[in-house]
Parts: sequence; C-alpha cells; structure tokens
Amino acid sequence: MTTQDRTRRVDSLGRVVLPADLRHALGIREGDVLDVAVNDGQLVLSRHEPKCVFCGTRDDLRERSGRHACGACVSALDAAQ
Ligand SMILES: [Zn+2]
Repeated sequence: MTTQDRTRRVDSLGRVVLPADLRHALGIREGDVLDVAVNDGQLVLSRHEPKCVFCGTRDDLRERSGRHACGACVSALDAAQ
C-alpha cells in the first residue's frame, strides 16, 4: 500500500469518511470497532482488540458480560473473594 495525501472534511457531527480503498486494503468493514487515540498530537485509528480491563494484556482473555479479563487477573480476583 502506498501512502497518499488525502483530505477529508469533518461533518457537523464530527464524522469523517475513511477512503474506500484504505478500508478495503486494511479489511475494515461496516460495523467494525476502531480505537481512536491521540499520539503526539496525531489522531490514530486502530483496530479494536480486546484487552484485560485490569492489567491491559491481550493474552489469555476470558469474557464476562462483554468485558474481558485475563486468566491471571480472574484468578487473583477469585482468590481475593
Ligand atoms: Zn489482567
């Protein structure tokens, strides 16, 4: 993929349309969830990947009620009860 200068206007609701060719190249589909962050003054969009709500790891995740926690945190919580 080559990098090109692209300009998109933000609408009255703060929405920006991602260029179709970029969406296709990156496999971004309607309904996908993206994380929005600011890094060094730059707006960064990245694919949302679940992480442990307690320690932030992405390994050994278990889902409970739509939230994720890793096995170590789940064990620590279970031991504390
Ligand atoms: Zn954890």
